[in-house]
Amino acid sequence: MTYNPPISDMSFLLEHVTGFRNLPHAEELDPETVDAILAEAAKLASDVLAPLNKTGDEHGNILKNGAVTTTPGFKEAYRQYCAGGWNAVPFPNEFDGQGLPWSLAFPIQEMWQGANLSFGLCPLLNQGAVDAILEHGSEEQKAYYLPKLISGEWTGTMNLTEPQAGSDLAAVKTKAEPAKDGTYKVFGQKIYITYGEHDMSENIIHLVLARLPNAPEGVKGISLFIVPKFLEDGTRNDVICTGLEHKLGIHASPTCTMQFGDQGGATGFLVGEAHQGLKYMFTMMNNARLSVGLQGVAIAERALQHAEHYARERVQGKGLSSGESVTIDHHPDVQRMLLTMKALTMAGRAMAYDASVYLDQARAGDEAAQIQVDLLTPIIKSWCTDMACEVASIGVQIHGGMGFVEETGAAQYYRDARILPIYEGTNGIQANDLLFRKILRDQGAALTSFYTDIKKTLADNVQAAEIFAHLDDVLSMIKLNKDLENLAFIAVPLLNGLGVLKGAEMMTKMASANDKYNDLSDFYMRNILPRARMSFDVVYLNLKT
Ligand SMILES: Cc1cc2nc3c(=O)[nH]c(=O)nc-3n(C[C@H](O)[C@H](O)[C@H](O)COP(=O)(O)OP(=O)(O)OC[C@H]3O[C@@H](n4cnc5c(N)ncnc54)[C@H](O)[C@@H]3O)c2cc1C
Repeated sequence: MTYNPPISDMSFLLEHVTGFRNLPHAEELDPETVDAILAEAAKLASDVLAPLNKTGDEHGNILKNGAVTTTPGFKEAYRQYCAGGWNAVPFPNEFDGQGLPWSLAFPIQEMWQGANLSFGLCPLLNQGAVDAILEHGSEEQKAYYLPKLISGEWTGTMNLTEPQAGSDLAAVKTKAEPAKDGTYKVFGQKIYITYGEHDMSENIIHLVLARLPNAPEGVKGISLFIVPKFLEDGTRNDVICTGLEHKLGIHASPTCTMQFGDQGGATGFLVGEAHQGLKYMFTMMNNARLSVGLQGVAIAERALQHAEHYARERVQGKGLSSGESVTIDHHPDVQRMLLTMKALTMAGRAMAYDASVYLDQARAGDEAAQIQVDLLTPIIKSWCTDMACEVASIGVQIHGGMGFVEETGAAQYYRDARILPIYEGTNGIQANDLLFRKILRDQGAALTSFYTDIKKTLADNVQAAEIFAHLDDVLSMIKLNKDLENLAFIAVPLLNGLGVLKGAEMMTKMASANDKYNDLSDFYMRNILPRARMSFDVVYLNLKT
């Protein structure tokens, strides 16, 4: 069973549901051009990347003497991906990017992730590195690194995590000592570094969090450094991969232990100002968080397609009314499962694409749009990745025993999806970010504008009206509550409820733009929207007054 990128749903969302058409840079992209770009990406995704998904899962990567050989086929697939200019899609023309909107890059990136999550991780991390250098690098750094990171000749990584510093980056210990020539010597160990070492590109540019001597304690003492695998004169830098993780899923993505400075210090170059590293790294992480949410949508779609295909073929039992042998897609419970998968996936896709339009507006200087991006980022990262695990799990269920054995591939989606709620800040951390930084810091102002829009769209929905009334009460209680521990306890259910409401808004917009989506939207309102009520009930019942 291959992967068919859902390009008609994708272009429908862009053209008729999100604000894509109102973006100034969408003017040069008529609907035919958009469709042609999506169709071209779909070919690479389904013909080249998707067939490598299962083999990559089975083979994984090999580490020998510090060098990682990627799974068979990845190197050539990466060459084709770069040759097609796909790595450059959303980046500025000034550095040889294609200058296309993020809102067009999102469906394209969804295809890489849906075809092959392990492959898609390499460009995902690279994108974060490009963004960090674009935003905070010096002119020389931009001129030297960006064209090659954008073409894909080089790839970028994100080196935050250390054994004692995961969610808590204040605990980072990696050191950077100033050298006489204005560079730095970096010493330390980073773990879980995605594509920290591989054979697909000529050079690997590590963005590394480290502390300068006498740096203040905690997050205020962390700086950001560029540490290339190969230096400008071609010499090998003092950074090496010393281990590869054995993981539950994404086997073809090398997850590396990176050792810096065992041979006298890895040469590093400071990005921006000293001690501002964490702030800069958040540029990378915020971007990556939305993209991880998109990974959730992508793997959910893949699991859905697989389950639909299997349910159409597998004959089991008799129809309740006909008494005839039927394929399992005739059983109401299987239909319910398939519709749940589809409704969650479409809602997730629509909200991720909606956020990408805000992202384009924000990058054009629209501050109100930036506030929406900030609010939506933890919701999309968390809701779409939890949703992906649920959808992939239902996919296994639809396959029955065949879902639990590896043969069909349904199990791989389930295993692969499981990382998504963990990396790029666990979903618990996202919920804290949403509640404390995005909602309470401005006393709910951003949230009010977020859900005023949703209220407008759902104005005719009686069920939603009750949920909003309940949410209003809950939010008033939250604003009055000064017990931080109690608030943190309800952050996840609050985020989940808001995600469900955002999904309902998008479903309603889809159905009003094209009645083809009416049934799916109705299904969502009957079967998914009640989860919002339950989430806010949970918040309410747990809040101390
Ligand atoms: C396959 C894979 C790829 C990765 N790729 C990269 C990479 O490229 N670069 C990189 O730097 N890192 C990477 N990571 C690391 C990843 O981002 C971390 O694993 C993640 O942020 C969680 O950190 P941790 O594993 O230390 O878990 P911990 O921080 O120990 O968390 C354990 C549990 O405690 C909870 N918790 C911890 N602190 C809090 C808190 N303050 N409030 C509420 N709950 C809390 C968490 O939500 C979680 O449920 C990767 C990890 C994996 C597994």
